[in-house]
Amino acid sequence: HAKNCGKNNAKLYSSALTTQIMSHVKLEVGLRRALQHNELYLQYQPQIDVKSAQIVGVEALVRWRHPEHGIIPPNDFIPLAEETGLIVPIGEWVLRTACLQARAWQQESRRAVRVAVNLSARQFKDENLAQTVLAVLHETGLDPRLLELELTEGTLMDDARATLTTLEQLRAIGIWLSIDDFGTGYSSMNYLKRFDVRALKIDKSFICGLPQDSENAAITRAIIAMAHGLKMAVVAEGVETGEQLALLEQYGCDMAQGYLLGRPQSIDAIARMLAGAQPVLR
Ligand code: C2E
Ligand code: MG
Ligand code: MG
Ligand code: MG
Repeated sequence: HAKNCGKNNAKLYSSALTTQIMSHVKLEVGLRRALQHNELYLQYQPQIDVKSAQIVGVEALVRWRHPEHGIIPPNDFIPLAEETGLIVPIGEWVLRTACLQARAWQQESRRAVRVAVNLSARQFKDENLAQTVLAVLHETGLDPRLLELELTEGTLMDDARATLTTLEQLRAIGIWLSIDDFGTGYSSMNYLKRFDVRALKIDKSFICGLPQDSENAAITRAIIAMAHGLKMAVVAEGVETGEQLALLEQYGCDMAQGYLLGRPQSIDAIARMLAGAQPVLR
């Protein structure tokens, strides 16, 4: 069957829906209050090691529980948060909350669980970013090797010199950097060489349609080969079927994330996964 790889459709649809029910101004006023009123919360999606089928990390994904409009997905308010600069305090809250949670899971489960946090371009431009990250790690006691920041290609390509400085500061702290939605943006292979990126996350638009879609299969294999050649790990996003996972395993993909392996979910659900001795799948 023709699979609906409708990432962009979904995005357009849900943005249209939110703007239908509230104006931009209202959205902005509401977002300003959301942080103070504890309306933001995180869900966590498991990342699975393909070979062992064990959970090795989680990605923190923010949601907004709006008092009137219910749950608003990040694609409907992150762009506005970026435009208004609100992403800086929101991003700091996400970082602190995720690090605190990762530390708590680590203590409960005695397993090292890496937490991945999405960083928008606007946050990356903040010259205090490295200081903020360092302060949050210090406050929460999380091992820097258990924190991963996800950047997009666009963020890295933005302003070469400032980017290099920030990346060097982050590298000195010892956290992981990965490139999100890889293959959908503009990137120069030079950047991959220079930036000490530890993982590429293959965008779900390439995973969707596997194994039938031979073009997506070729792109996926090529990204994996390139990443491994550069000593980077690979995470496949949007894995929804066992067939996709089997193919990714055959291609040597290191990690996988997607509805098949776990939806974005609550703290307790992740704690249960961590407590389970059994591998997540098989
Ligand atoms: P992303 O970082 O690429 O996150 C992956 C998105 O794909 C998530 O959507 C996740 O729920 C969804 N997803 C996971 N597995 C599957 C699957 O098997 N199939 C399909 N179709 N989708 C899957 P979500 O949570 O709506 O987040 C959307 C985007 O919003 C994220 O994309 C990220 O760019 C942004 N975002 C989320 N949280 C934050 C945050 O705290 N800060 C910033 N700056 N951006 C965030
Ligand atoms: Mg991400
Ligand atoms: Mg992504
Ligand atoms: Mg993204």
